[in-house]
Amino acid sequence: MTGTLAGFFAPWAIYAGLLLLHLVLPARRVNGYVRDEHTDELLRYRLNGLLVLIVTVSLWFAAGLFGGMPWEWLWLHRWPGLAGAATLGILVSFAVVLSAPSTGKSILVDLFLGRRFNPQALAGRVDAKMFLYLVGATLLELNLLSFAAHHWITFPDDPSPGIALYVCLFSWFVCDYLFFERVHLYTYDLFAERLGFKLVWGCLTFYPYFYGVGLWTIADRPNPDTPVWLLSLYALLFFVGWSIARGANMQKFVFKTNPSRVFLGVIPPETIQNGEQALLCNGFWGISRHVNYLGEILMASGLALSLGWPLAWGPWLYPLYYVVLLGTRERDDDRRCAEKYGTIWEEYRKRVPWRIVPGVY
Ligand code: NDP
Repeated sequence: MTGTLAGFFAPWAIYAGLLLLHLVLPARRVNGYVRDEHTDELLRYRLNGLLVLIVTVSLWFAAGLFGGMPWEWLWLHRWPGLAGAATLGILVSFAVVLSAPSTGKSILVDLFLGRRFNPQALAGRVDAKMFLYLVGATLLELNLLSFAAHHWITFPDDPSPGIALYVCLFSWFVCDYLFFERVHLYTYDLFAERLGFKLVWGCLTFYPYFYGVGLWTIADRPNPDTPVWLLSLYALLFFVGWSIARGANMQKFVFKTNPSRVFLGVIPPETIQNGEQALLCNGFWGISRHVNYLGEILMASGLALSLGWPLAWGPWLYPLYYVVLLGTRERDDDRRCAEKYGTIWEEYRKRVPWRIVPGVY
C-alpha cells in the first residue's frame, strides 16, 4: 500500500523538484515570438531545459548507484505513477482554466481547450507552457531509463540491443527538443493553443507515459535477436526523419528571426510576398507545406521498429498517434494560414501542392 501511494505521488514530487531546479539553475533569457495579450510586447522566456534534464538524470543515476532507489523503481510503480500523473493533470487543468475569465464558449470547451494563451508566473521566471513541456520531457526520459533498467535486470545475460537503441534514439529526441527549446517558441503550440486540459494533461500525463508505450509493452519480453544490419536501418530511418523535421523547423526559425539570412550557408530564402507578409517556398518548405510532420512520423516509425518486435501492436500506437495528431493539426494550421495570409497562401498552395507527404498527400 505504501509503495502504491509512493508511486502515485512520485510524479507530483518529481514535478515539484523540477520546478525547483528550473528556478535555481542558470537560464538564458530570450525574446519569444508570441506577444503579451495586454502590452503587445514580445514575451520573454527563461530557458534551461537541457541543464535541468542533465541534473535530474544524474540524480536518478546516483540514487540507483548508491542504493537510495532502484533504477527500475518507476517501472515497478508505473501504474500508480500513471494514475497520480493523470489526477494531477486533471486538478491543474481545472485550476488553470477556472481561475481565468470565460472565452464565451461553453465550460466544457473552455476546460478542454483552455482560456489563457501564455500565462507566466513568478515575475516571468516561469512560463506555464514551456515549463509543462520541460517536465513532460524530463519524466518521459526517466520513465524510459527506468523501463530499460527493468529489462536489463530481468534479462541480465541476454538483454535486447533493440531496447538500448530505442532508449538512445528517444534520448536524442528529448535532448534535441531541450537543446532547441528556443525554436519551439516559434511553433503552433505557443501561438495557437490555449492552456486547457488538452495541453496541461497532455504534458503532465500523456507525454511522459504514452510516448514510451513501445517500451512499456516490450520491456518484459526477451531479446528478439534482431540482426545488427536491421537495427542500423531502423536507426537510419529515425535520423532521416530527424533531419527532415529539424531541418524544416530550423529553416523557418532562421527565416522568422532573420528573413534574408542564407540557411545552412547554401539555401538563400525564396519567398512569396505581398509587401507586408512573406512565406518561404523553397528548401524544406518547397517540398510539402508541412514536411516537418512527415519527419516526425518517420522518427516515430524508426523508434517503434527499433524495439525489434515489428508485429507487436504496442510500439505502433506511437506513430499512429502522430498520424492522427499531425494530420488534424495540418488541416487546422492550413485554415489558420489561409485566414492570416490570404492570397499569398493561395499562391503557396498552388506552388507547393502537397500537404505533408510529397507526391502522395
Ligand atoms: P510548423 O512548425 O509547421 O508551424 C506552422 C506555422 O508556421 C504556421 O502556422 C505559420 O505560422 C508558419 N508557416 C507555415 N508555412 C510557412 C511558410 N511556408 N513560410 C513561413 N512560415 C510558414 O508546425 P508546428 O508548430 O505544429 O510544429 C513544429 C514542430 O513540432 C514540427 O516538427 C512538428 O512535427 C513538431 N511537433 C511535435 C510534437 C511532439 O509531440 N513531438 C507535437 C506537435 C508538433 P506564422 O503565422 O507564424 O507564419
